[in-house]
Amino acid sequence: MDVHDLEFLQKQVQQLKDDGVYRKIPIIESANEAEVLIDGRKVINLCSNNYLGFANHPRLKKAAIEAIEKYGVGAGAVKTIVGNMDIHEQLEAELAKFKKEEAVMLFQSGFSCNAGVIQAITQAGDLIVSDELNHASIIDGTRLSRADRAVYKHSDMADLRRVLEEKREHYQQVLIITDGVFSMDGDIAHLPAIVDLAEEFKCLTYVDDAHGSGVLGESGRGTVDHFHLHGRIDFTIGTLSKAFGVIGGYVACRQVAKEWLAHRARPLLFSTYLPPAVVGALLEAVKMLNESEEYTKACWDNARYFKTKMSDAGFDIGHSQTPITPVFIFDEAKTMAFSKALLQEGVFVSPIIFPTVAKGKGRVRVMVTAIHTKEQLDKSVDAFVKIGKEMQII
Ligand SMILES: *Cc1c(COP(=O)(O)O)cnc(C)c1O
Repeated sequence: MDVHDLEFLQKQVQQLKDDGVYRKIPIIESANEAEVLIDGRKVINLCSNNYLGFANHPRLKKAAIEAIEKYGVGAGAVKTIVGNMDIHEQLEAELAKFKKEEAVMLFQSGFSCNAGVIQAITQAGDLIVSDELNHASIIDGTRLSRADRAVYKHSDMADLRRVLEEKREHYQQVLIITDGVFSMDGDIAHLPAIVDLAEEFKCLTYVDDAHGSGVLGESGRGTVDHFHLHGRIDFTIGTLSKAFGVIGGYVACRQVAKEWLAHRARPLLFSTYLPPAVVGALLEAVKMLNESEEYTKACWDNARYFKTKMSDAGFDIGHSQTPITPVFIFDEAKTMAFSKALLQEGVFVSPIIFPTVAKGKGRVRVMVTAIHTKEQLDKSVDAFVKIGKEMQII
């Protein structure tokens, strides 16, 4: 075999196929709505992060087009050179007001925000203390830092205390990082307890609220607002790619932290800034959330409706406290087969397996949104029940 045939990758890919976990990435032939076109067929979409239906909302589209007309299609440079337009500044100001925090620094995505911020605010001699179920982008962001790391058991406050008692005195700064809402299970971090421990041990706190943004708190202000902890969390990360419907990420923090990030957060220095259309659409999204709670309310109402029906039908839907609804199948190959069978029934739910979640914890993760109709949700539950019985899951 020629070296360029990449035999080592061929073997690994074949192994995925042998294990029944090889994925063909689905191709969507329409906008991200409650129903999407796949292979020319309309199916109910139960796996987007488009919580509020903003991804194809006419108001956001109009704002995006207007921003293109005025500012063009590209930012033209990284933020720190000549990519920072007045609309970027305006969006940062609006988000800071929305989050009730001193300042906001905008990033290209939630992922690049974690990749940039964690490394910039920690250094050798510091310690990062992380929940074991934190998102991959936190783990990668942490790997870029020169600080030491420690992990505590998922949402286990006694274990967090143990780590702090053992390690706090050996380090300069200690940064406790947690997801606000855990994306695979839908449970909410015990933020009040984390903040109390952080204050007791003089640590900094960092909450990645990607799935809380636009979902929890007043009008979707997030997990910090949900617990009324304003001013007690040092860094709150949000994404603009999920409930906000577009793309982007941000950190809400003190002004001095923002100033430091402008000098040291590498995605701001080495990666081109968000295009005007994105920023225009996001300004409209913030405006809509400020105007009305109808979007977040509709999302929660649908989520409660669907969850009740699924648990009444006998499915194991875990202990989610948010619209994220995992439906546990456990076995990896069976999870893949379950998702395939649902698609045949006209319901699209993506399977979630290792390495996204632990081995043997396979699930399909249902994301109910504000724009699903009750009819679509009923039809989905019927399909779950049919396949669930066929595959002896319920
Ligand atoms: C989705 C997600 C991200 C990444 O956000 P993007 O804006 O999609 O890059 C980061 N953190 C958590 C917890 C997430 O769920």
